[in-house]
Amino acid sequence: MPLENQMMKNNYHTHMYLCKHAIGTVSDYVKKAIDLGFETIGMSDHAPFEELKDRSVRMIPSEYPSYLKELEKAIHKFGSLINIRKGLEIEYFETHIERYDELLNTLDYLALGQHYIYDEESFGKLRSVYALSKPEHLQEYSKTLKQAMKSQNFKFVCHPDLMLYGYPTFDKHAEAASKEIIKASIEYNVPLEINANGIRKGTRELPEGNRYLYPRLEFWKLVKEYGAKVIVSSDAHDPEKLWDEDVIKAYEFARDLGIEVEASLNI
Ligand SMILES: [Zn+2]
Ligand SMILES: [Zn+2]
Repeated sequence: MPLENQMMKNNYHTHMYLCKHAIGTVSDYVKKAIDLGFETIGMSDHAPFEELKDRSVRMIPSEYPSYLKELEKAIHKFGSLINIRKGLEIEYFETHIERYDELLNTLDYLALGQHYIYDEESFGKLRSVYALSKPEHLQEYSKTLKQAMKSQNFKFVCHPDLMLYGYPTFDKHAEAASKEIIKASIEYNVPLEINANGIRKGTRELPEGNRYLYPRLEFWKLVKEYGAKVIVSSDAHDPEKLWDEDVIKAYEFARDLGIEVEASLNI
């Protein structure tokens, strides 16, 4: 599909003020999406998760009802102008399997945003995905994503290449973990996301050249080779970023690799 036709009409990865590092109410994002001519706006703020102590980057459990209330209010007011989908971005842990069904009673979808993995050696037995440094960490990450996709609780995988954020090089372990994720995405039919917020964070001068920390080129070359389904998301933390130059760059990133982006998801 030529780039000029790859205009975003559906964005399923959107935050709001309750996560404390985004601005704007649900209605602010919905109004912006209407102005942009979107067909669907999926709200997917960072899920409350009692066990994750990073309270500064997600809503606290007691705020969840007000999130739902904001969504209902926006649907009531703007639901005739645009499809509004109720979602959350959330981590997967097999020890919390009942949690996902419970949330899906009140939501339309969950997006898998794996920001932590289980790690016996880390404080609280959790390790940040921004700080994976050993092959075993990548193996745990890819295993977790595979289990999550298999569970069919998630409509897409947010920034699947985030595992490489702090990992020194794209070595054979990085390649193996990437392939495991991509193969699972195909097997369980869960699309992988090119995340524009990674592009928003800019490039870094690294030994192998100037590049984004994510999306990671080597990962997406493998995605192209294997043929997994791909979406582009804004991952907006500000209504003004729903469609910006970094979303356009994300589409260009896909186009340069010959990746065809899914226009919409069945949500
Ligand atoms: Zn965020
Ligand atoms: Zn996000």
